[in-house]
Amino acid sequence: MFKKQFAALLATVFFAVPAFAEEHGGDVAVAQAYIKEIQAEEKAYVAAHNAAFFQELAKGQLPRATVVTCSDSRVHTNMLDKTPEGDLFMIRNIGNQLSTAKGSVQYGVNHLGSSLLLFIGHSSCGAIKAASGDYSTLEEPIKKELDTINITKGGANIDGVKVNVNNQVAAALKEFADKVKKGQLLVVGAVYDFADDMKQGAGNLNIINMNGETDPAKFRDMTAPAAKAEHDHH
Ligand SMILES: [Zn+2]
Repeated sequence: MFKKQFAALLATVFFAVPAFAEEHGGDVAVAQAYIKEIQAEEKAYVAAHNAAFFQELAKGQLPRATVVTCSDSRVHTNMLDKTPEGDLFMIRNIGNQLSTAKGSVQYGVNHLGSSLLLFIGHSSCGAIKAASGDYSTLEEPIKKELDTINITKGGANIDGVKVNVNNQVAAALKEFADKVKKGQLLVVGAVYDFADDMKQGAGNLNIINMNGETDPAKFRDMTAPAAKAEHDHH
């Protein structure tokens, strides 16, 4: 019995985390159980909110942030904002890219008026891992979405993650140059580091880029304009 359980545990450890390039079959029994779980959780969510909450949502949205994250299931909004409804315009794709979801990003920034455009990469990113190696055997649409990740082949995953986030910020600064210049938009790049690869603490959201500035010492000036103005008076 114990041996059987141990074997099952080993199988879980070895096979639960398929590499990006490997194909992995699903199981509809898991889906059936999970959709029930989702329905129950959603009911609890409805019960926890009053009618006014949903009436407010029905009026429309003015999200303060447009957020581009990787699709990775370990990255979610509850780490950013306890009440993200109406505030985070979410765009997700493999490798948290601007180019593969440009229309969605334009919609958030140009039409919904988000003044924060936030790109979030993360540690142990499968898309970055794939893009830094040979992904020629993958499906054409996946290859197409990896082709736009411009990182050095064979580098450390966290380095590729950071380079990619900086690339996205640079591309967004070009795309929305006018808004940034007018002070209507702040473009921020960050890495959600659950693996603590950046040694800032596991789970930290490390901001690595603000409007192209990559020196963390200068971020404080950019996030505290009032304090800076006061400082400039002396
Ligand atoms: Zn990822």
